[in-house]
Amino acid sequence: MPEGPEIRRAADRVEKSIRGKLILEVELLHPGLAGRESLFVNHYVTHIDTRGKAMLTRLSSGWTIYSHNQLYGRWTVNRASTNPHSNRALRLAITTDSHTARLWSATDIDLFRSGEENSHPFITSLGPDVLNPESTPSVLLDQLASTSCRRRKAASLMLDQRAFAGLGNYLRSEILFKANVHPDDRPDDLDKDHLERWATVISQMSLRTYQTGGITVDKKMAEAGKASKRPRRTWRHYVFNREGLDCPACATAIVRKRYGGRRLDFCPTCQISKRDLKT
Ligand SMILES: [Zn+2]
Repeated sequence: MPEGPEIRRAADRVEKSIRGKLILEVELLHPGLAGRESLFVNHYVTHIDTRGKAMLTRLSSGWTIYSHNQLYGRWTVNRASTNPHSNRALRLAITTDSHTARLWSATDIDLFRSGEENSHPFITSLGPDVLNPESTPSVLLDQLASTSCRRRKAASLMLDQRAFAGLGNYLRSEILFKANVHPDDRPDDLDKDHLERWATVISQMSLRTYQTGGITVDKKMAEAGKASKRPRRTWRHYVFNREGLDCPACATAIVRKRYGGRRLDFCPTCQISKRDLKT
């Protein structure tokens, strides 16, 4: 599933191509949009907000398209003259005089008067959005230390959209590694400095991933990776997808465990459990 930073980048691409341009044609092939052409044609997209992994496409008609890509949804952007072939099911196409933005395969799509989307059950349940500038490390620290989070395992907190909106499977492994947090530890097991570090890493790594298009390692490691000419997947992460390979910090073999049915890769040396040390 794409994570918050990928969704924000998809929103940027759609904005760049059709924002502020008169909508000339629209195809509404999802039941949540059917028959609402008049809200689109002769209006334009004013901007796109993202909330975690959901996209809110704002129309000058005063309406907002809510869409969540889940596992399969995908946005594409083409010149208006291009008619792309795809095996995916088209849900929505917005055409201006220059470009067409299309949403494929997504099933979770709805229309709201702008502002009223805040009553959507998914939106109301979200925790702080890791890419929102208002989600400062101090806000994220408060969230980690909150009664709803502080006794929960790091591995489950880092995937729960009600705790932190926008994090997904690879960010979970990467954040816990960089913050030196064992996946079984809870915020309550860590001292204040450690929690602060964790909160800062959540913020910094989410932003970096957005800026780099999915590279979680720091600039120096990324430059060395690029120079090595090895495939990007072999160097873009510190630990994720690197089971059995050397930890970049201490050379211990990376270990894989499954949490909530999904893989988590970590370094047993760098991420020593504070919980075990206490007992
Ligand atoms: Zn290590």
